[in-house]
Amino acid sequence: MDLKTVTVLGAGTMGHGIAQVSAMAGLDVRLYDIQESFVDAGLTKLCANLDKGVARGKVDAELAEASKGRVSGTADLKTACVDSDLVIEAVPEKLELKQQLFAQAESFAPYAIYATNTSSLSIAKIALGVTAPERVIGLHFFNPVHIMKLLEIVVHDETDPAVLEACQAYGAALGKECITVRDFPGFATSRLGVCLGMEAIRMVEQGVASAEDIDTAMVLGYRHPIGPLKLSDLVGIDVRMHIGEYLAEELDNPAFRPPELMKQMVAEGRLGKKAGRGFYEYE
Ligand code: NAD
Repeated sequence: MDLKTVTVLGAGTMGHGIAQVSAMAGLDVRLYDIQESFVDAGLTKLCANLDKGVARGKVDAELAEASKGRVSGTADLKTACVDSDLVIEAVPEKLELKQQLFAQAESFAPYAIYATNTSSLSIAKIALGVTAPERVIGLHFFNPVHIMKLLEIVVHDETDPAVLEACQAYGAALGKECITVRDFPGFATSRLGVCLGMEAIRMVEQGVASAEDIDTAMVLGYRHPIGPLKLSDLVGIDVRMHIGEYLAEELDNPAFRPPELMKQMVAEGRLGKKAGRGFYEYE
């Protein structure tokens, strides 16, 4: 499979980043969202990212201009999907929404690969939305997409090996380090990361040590680039709480159950960096 055209559904935090790195790898990209204003906002962020890269000497100016020229935006699903080789969704983490969107897109691009950027949902369940589940796969990018090296590729039982191979080649073209993981709740990244985060929150709750000291323990003692509590602040306490609830249920493992302190923080709006306060205070 030779992928030339990529459609990205959802122009938010992840979608505009996926569009950017795909265009930088030389692919033609169509960025879709439900409203023109959302598409425009995504395109604006994409261009600003590229300009910043040029200003910092990290991105070649010619490549930046060429990449901008390879991305088009639309709020029309048909225009976004017709003749596309790879459709990647980055819409909110809701199973029915992802299923419905893939079903609609498939009517315009019946032979495309359908990739989901879900952080935790079952790829096999998302694949129920299309007529050919063997063309569905997880392509889990990390935030910010243009900086984070990892691409977690998630295959479900019916994923066609040729689809996996095409996605590995796509990931390599983007300069990502690809890992392949089976379709288990939380995959490799969210399962381990959220487990550590929940335990760290329980330790704050039990008064074992301060948030700063627990983070320092992992940064200096285990060489983690960032502590589990600061990372929870970055991702969003509410986002992590929902993933934890989902994983506790799906894996039948109480270690993922959100601690009381976490629920209290969400109720009080202490959602992490985006809210200006979480385990730490932000400007
Ligand atoms: P976001 O809220 O920033 O963006 C979602 C976008 O989808 C919005 O622009 C919204 O208008 C659009 N949208 C909503 N309904 C739509 C529809 N029917 N059709 C097309 N677009 C629609 O969310 P995000 O943070 O980019 O997350 C997207 C997905 O990526 C989620 O599944 C999330 O779990 C996953 N993810 C997020 C991160 C992260 O750090 N934010 C990291 C990895 C994976």
